[in-house]
Amino acid sequence: MFSLNNLKDKLADKQKIVITTHYKPDGDAMGSSLGLYHWLSKRGHEVNLIVPSDYPSFLFWMPGQEDVIIYTEQRGTSDQLIKDADIIFCLDFNHLSRIHDMTASVRESQALKCMIDHHLSPEGFDDVRLWDSSAAATAQLVYDFIVNHMDDRAGITEAIATALYTGIMTDTGSFRFSSTTAQVHLIVADLISLGAQNWKIHEHVFNSSTENRLKFLGFCLLNRLEVISEYNTALFAVTSEDLKKFNVTTGDTEGLVNYALSVSGIRLAALIIDRPDRVKLSLRSIGEIPCNEICSKHFNGGGHKNASGGQSQGALHEVVQKFKSILPEYKNLLTT
Ligand code: 5GP
Ligand code: MN
Repeated sequence: MFSLNNLKDKLADKQKIVITTHYKPDGDAMGSSLGLYHWLSKRGHEVNLIVPSDYPSFLFWMPGQEDVIIYTEQRGTSDQLIKDADIIFCLDFNHLSRIHDMTASVRESQALKCMIDHHLSPEGFDDVRLWDSSAAATAQLVYDFIVNHMDDRAGITEAIATALYTGIMTDTGSFRFSSTTAQVHLIVADLISLGAQNWKIHEHVFNSSTENRLKFLGFCLLNRLEVISEYNTALFAVTSEDLKKFNVTTGDTEGLVNYALSVSGIRLAALIIDRPDRVKLSLRSIGEIPCNEICSKHFNGGGHKNASGGQSQGALHEVVQKFKSILPEYKNLLTT
């Protein structure tokens, strides 16, 4: 197998590079991708960042976001770039199905595929990888890639530091989750010393809600939260009418599931949304409750132990029923 050292040698020459990340990219997907995008561009490579779909507006301020190609808006150009690429970097996902409509194009490309990711159970489509499921964020791994594998800490510009900080901040719930080790804090400190303005990034990401988004949050807290005390579980079931009524756009539901988890004593939280094409689930847990197992076994998804996602083609009420019917299986973990 190709090693990261071989990749370093290859990157000594100018390459045609495509970077991609998962469908509906979140802060880590965009932060890690833009961080790598700036670094590779600065080194003189021809780089294109192609994402499978749109992404939340609270990330629109990020340096370089104006260069991002959205696959569904530029299919022809994107397919050609993917076909012609020497190297494709796949960030923050490890199953090609996570890039939806781009799957076939990336799979068929003859480019060297480099995966940088922190999710469990990689599919194995890659030729070379930097993979660590204990990493707090893919942005942390991109930092590791640049600093330790490519020996280029000096090459981290303010834009790169800003992008990587955003990725780590969003994937750790602002440095709250158990993945936030001392090492993560050291990296974050280094990113601040390299130019990331932490207060400004928090401001951009968290103080950019629309009035609709806040009212939608209030509506969900009041009308859509269900607490199942017997199983220390809480869920939100959001209908397609709710989405229409509050004009909910990509990113507006981000973080909602954490409110269910914030109820005292709750160990498992679910956000179940009736999206136009499918019912989408987001699960969060604390401790040993395996969200990823629940998602992979029952909802055609996966993720991390304490944060995962899945989907179903059933009706919203059926998916909610199915989710509830699974709880007895985990009664011990949920209640002891
Ligand atoms: P979220 O609930 O924020 O959409 O996703 C939480 C975590 O689960 C993320 O790490 C994400 O990559 C993963 N995830 C979300 N949806 C899916 C899915 O449909 N399939 C898989 N394999 N992982 C998912
Ligand atoms: Mn991530």
